[in-house]
Amino acid sequence: MKQNAAFGSLFKNIMIVMEVLLCVTALLLLVFRHSVAGFETEATKETQITEEAEEPAVESAEEYLQEDEPLAGSDTEADTEADIEAETETDAVTETETETDTDIRTSQETLQEQSMEEQEELLRMKKAEEMKADWRLFLTNKNHYIPTDYEPELVAFTGRHRVDERITEDLQEMIDAAKEDGVRLQIVSAYRDFNRQKRLYEKKVRAYKRKGMTFEEASMEAAKTVAAPGTSEHQLGLALDIVGSSHSALTESFADTKAGIWLASHSYEYGFILRYPKGKEEITGIIFEPWHFRYVGKDYAKEITEQGLTLEEYLKENGVN
Ligand SMILES: [Zn+2]
Repeated sequence: MKQNAAFGSLFKNIMIVMEVLLCVTALLLLVFRHSVAGFETEATKETQITEEAEEPAVESAEEYLQEDEPLAGSDTEADTEADIEAETETDAVTETETETDTDIRTSQETLQEQSMEEQEELLRMKKAEEMKADWRLFLTNKNHYIPTDYEPELVAFTGRHRVDERITEDLQEMIDAAKEDGVRLQIVSAYRDFNRQKRLYEKKVRAYKRKGMTFEEASMEAAKTVAAPGTSEHQLGLALDIVGSSHSALTESFADTKAGIWLASHSYEYGFILRYPKGKEEITGIIFEPWHFRYVGKDYAKEITEQGLTLEEYLKENGVN
């Protein structure tokens, strides 16, 4: 019994010691855990501080981005992106405004230039239309036939000749002016109707055929000196063959006579042009005829003569024909 009691007392003491050890262990665990938790908090704080310290570097990068072109898909914060976009838009607006100002000025200048050009073109077209409709500039040559129903209002002039009545005043003025200068002008031919022109032309063709030419060759050669019927200015009543009292033949040498020189120098002052000048045979299709004068009116005659043009060239330059 005594041994059992001793054993029981020992067992009880061991149990107490064990309990105490457990308690101490538990306490140590608690303390350790607390220490670990505290360490972790410090570590987190330190990480946060490090991150905070790095922020300015990110901002600097963003500022760099703002100054430079924004990169597509950059990892900047939403706010910063918005700022960049806003600033970029502002820049874009400013640029657009500047461009718009330039555009407006440029377009205004362009409009003015276009308007000037259009106005000039309109004036040219208007002048061309007026010239086209002007009886004084009626063009006839081997390419421009006179309509068969063309009938000028004719009046007798110096007896047997007839001319378009609208030219008589200027014609008379020219004859009088020449007379004052000691030159007696003589009209050889004025208005000729279609049939008269046809007879003259056919007579010329026969003459060339007698020289051995074919009909085609003779016709072409005749047309250089006698306009084919339907293409003669005499048929308009606006053309005159004029010579001087000392030289009545229709030859090139008439150009060197007193009357020939006077007409070449002064006819335009009265509205008449030397219609088939020397050196322009290819354009007019007619040989040099220093005796053939065509009425176009004083203004046109002055321009055509001063510019050294044929009627064909003058009309072409002004957009007619
Ligand atoms: Zn003639």
